[in-house]
Amino acid sequence: PPRIGVLALQGDVREHLAALRTCGADAVPVRTAEDLDSVAGLVFPGGESTAMSRLLRVFDMIGPVQRAVADGLPVYGSCAGMILLAAEVLDTREDAVNFGALDVTVRRNAFGRQVDSFEEDLRITGIAGDPVRAVFIRAPWIERVGPGVEVLAAVDRGGAERAVAVRQGAALATSFHPEMGEDLRIHGLFVDMVRAAA
Ligand code: GLN
Repeated sequence: PPRIGVLALQGDVREHLAALRTCGADAVPVRTAEDLDSVAGLVFPGGESTAMSRLLRVFDMIGPVQRAVADGLPVYGSCAGMILLAAEVLDTREDAVNFGALDVTVRRNAFGRQVDSFEEDLRITGIAGDPVRAVFIRAPWIERVGPGVEVLAAVDRGGAERAVAVRQGAALATSFHPEMGEDLRIHGLFVDMVRAAA
């Protein structure tokens, strides 16, 4: 089975490890450059992107992750993880890091205070059958999508379509948290992407 890492500095690491294992991957936590060298794909979990930024710096992991992304390592980010994978982030701290695996502009905490958390049934390109029940928690949305980026799902807010699932080559991201529910088809899609890249 493909060996897939979950960046294990902060956030819902255990949920992603469990979801990946259910989808047939050999899932391992990644905290060091050595851990990172041993995996064929990397998940950036949900949590707090500015806290993850700080820990990436403390653990000297910014350079290794930058190199892995530049080398085309398949990556998937949920929520805070999507923020870390974006090329540009709005409403974040000036010293926060992001890796540019996806040519998108992301706005943190975009859905506003009244709807900090909500669930919605989403049709997702590439996922056949029933819609995916998507859990959003202080979620970001995507405000700009570069030419190489495929929008897999969007939600309507005030008449504007906001992208919440995107893919560009070997990089996948969702504003929501499939690792928190029973429906693991997004993780299945990522495991397939890792297999295809191997
Ligand atoms: N609001 C968080 C951030 O900006 C993301 C929330 C989440 O991952 N559920 O990092």
